[in-house]
Amino acid sequence: MVRAAYSLTTLLNQLNRLAPNRSKLSDGGIGDPAHAARISDHNPDANNIYHARDYTHDPAGGLDCQWLANELTRSADIRIKYIIWNRRIWTGYWATYNGSSPHTEHLHLSVNARGDDPREWELGDDMAIEDIERMVWKGGNVPGSIAAGTLIANVEELERMVWKGGSVTGSIAPESLIGRVDKLTVAVAELVELVKGQMT
Ligand SMILES: [Zn+2]
Repeated sequence: MVRAAYSLTTLLNQLNRLAPNRSKLSDGGIGDPAHAARISDHNPDANNIYHARDYTHDPAGGLDCQWLANELTRSADIRIKYIIWNRRIWTGYWATYNGSSPHTEHLHLSVNARGDDPREWELGDDMAIEDIERMVWKGGNVPGSIAAGTLIANVEELERMVWKGGSVTGSIAPESLIGRVDKLTVAVAELVELVKGQMT
């Protein structure tokens, strides 16, 4: 049976969770006849696995492909073969892309031989932040109280943001995080890992 490399489906599922109402107009998996006529990672290989997917650019619907491009390239995930987005191609660095489609309607992701590794992609996304919020609340659910990309200076600031001004000093033991953080300012993505390590 023909299928996508597993990591492409993992990313699709992550994006659908992140933006459940996003447009899928320009989503693409297996190649259409136009693709099949030329060499494309959208075409299945000898094992009936295809190695590329397109993800629709729909900022209003919650998926901005510039954000996605930023997140994927920032992570420099070893499964990436290349990304094409908005007239540029990324293969470890960005270069001008002159293909027939400018790729402004969708981001194209090709994965390499590691593409069947199904682990989640490192997106500094709301899901991860919600994970923090849930962990901080020890089971409570306060999605949206921290904006994606927010920098957090220290544990007490995190507590204030999560609790929206409530005073909850001490709900996280400061040494639990700070003892392991060299700089006090950590990005949310790093914090996710730290909090997971401490609280699970
Ligand atoms: Zn494509």
